[in-house]
Amino acid sequence: MSAPAPIPTDFSSRTHPRILCLFDVDGTLSPARGDASKEMIDLLARLRQTCAIGVVGGSDLKKIREQFHVNGGGRDGVTLFDYFFAENGLTAFKFGKPLATQSFINWLGEEKYQRLAKFCLRYISQLDIPVMRGTFIEFRNGMINVSPIGRNASTEERHAFEKYDKEHGIRPKFIAALKEEFPDYGLTFSIGGQISFDVFPHGWDKTYSLRFVTGEDSTNEPQWDEIHFFGDKTYKGGNDYEIFSDPRTIGHTVTSPEDTARQLEELFFSS
Ligand SMILES: [Mg+2]
Repeated sequence: MSAPAPIPTDFSSRTHPRILCLFDVDGTLSPARGDASKEMIDLLARLRQTCAIGVVGGSDLKKIREQFHVNGGGRDGVTLFDYFFAENGLTAFKFGKPLATQSFINWLGEEKYQRLAKFCLRYISQLDIPVMRGTFIEFRNGMINVSPIGRNASTEERHAFEKYDKEHGIRPKFIAALKEEFPDYGLTFSIGGQISFDVFPHGWDKTYSLRFVTGEDSTNEPQWDEIHFFGDKTYKGGNDYEIFSDPRTIGHTVTSPEDTARQLEELFFSS
């Protein structure tokens, strides 16, 4: 096996140094929660000679690294891309070097966070629902996840709550109360899954990552002629929707990693 190519430190050697391609991970470069294939990693290496490339995943750094580990030929997944964004860019790398990290608690501050957490717990304590378990607030790096029934609920209890919530609107009412109580906090509330909703700052979707490539945070980024984005959940409500429809990007919807490969061949390698 030959030694891996050195990590690039600029874009000047690319065929198109002013084109950047950004990729979602799950369903775009890899099967959902699975490993990127050797073929995909080889294709990305080839594409990297043509233009700049980056990844924008919603999962945390550890998870995305793992997805490029098995077939990455011993390379750290972070170095397979010019830009590497985990948690939508809350953790960011360029040329394998960390750029910045941000967290929900840093952004909101302890005092405001405690007011929010206490309000949630008080609100839950006054709910009348058939079942309550434990872990009502899960504290994560980029968000909090709030569950009226608690995240310790069993699968059966989750199904039952979901049904009950559809009839009684527990989560929508909870969110309405939070919006009324904290109108100035700049928070987005998003119902997902069966038993909970996410709370995170406005704009902390995948468009968060664009600040690092557009020079909004540093001054020496190239003026890209084109920023392409490839993702599978580009419909409204999907986690690629905002960056896909952002005026700064050219959006491409893919149906699978194989479809991504096909579209890349067509766009960049067919003559
Ligand atoms: Mg996806």
